[in-house]
Amino acid sequence: MDHPYVLLPEEAVPHGLQHCERCELAKQRTRVIWGEGNPEARLIMILDNPGAREDRQGNSFLCGTRETLQHGMREAGLEIDSVYVTYLLKCRPIRAYNKPEARDACLTHLQMQLLEKRPLVLFGFGNVVAEALFPGRENASVKELRGSWHEFQGIPVGFTYHPLAVRRRPNLMRFFVEDLVALKKKWENVQ
Ligand code: SF4
Repeated sequence: MDHPYVLLPEEAVPHGLQHCERCELAKQRTRVIWGEGNPEARLIMILDNPGAREDRQGNSFLCGTRETLQHGMREAGLEIDSVYVTYLLKCRPIRAYNKPEARDACLTHLQMQLLEKRPLVLFGFGNVVAEALFPGRENASVKELRGSWHEFQGIPVGFTYHPLAVRRRPNLMRFFVEDLVALKKKWENVQ
């Protein structure tokens, strides 16, 4: 039987940004990771950071976040190649760092991606993404934001739990799939 999950292809980092030093993560990262999946997709998912993509020997592997994300998408009937996945931070943190500074610094890159890709729908995972997209908003948490549509820079955005939270608390899977089903409906309506 085929493995039900796939390692999505990475999109190349734009010229000149492979060595970005806008924040202190430049000193601890292995490399900048710009995004993965279908680079033409106008449905963009936003995770907090790239997570692990290679084991210690440098072999590619699928982390728990991606496995759970793809599981939820399959349950909801969303096609894996209909989305592009990117991150709030394009570098994977390894040690403690100044989170507000790094998020502010890297938001510029996300905004650049949105200008270039002109998504029709955005979908964020976890409280970190919710707080970063709505910094001035009280209670910008998944619990508060999930279940309805909001706007970020004129683009509809929805939220659900981070896949790792769902992995740790399997009782969240039902809500996770519910939110992804709502995303599928939204996506079908905007195309
Ligand atoms: S996290 Fe973003 S801003 Fe910071 S070094 Fe990496 S690419 Fe640059």
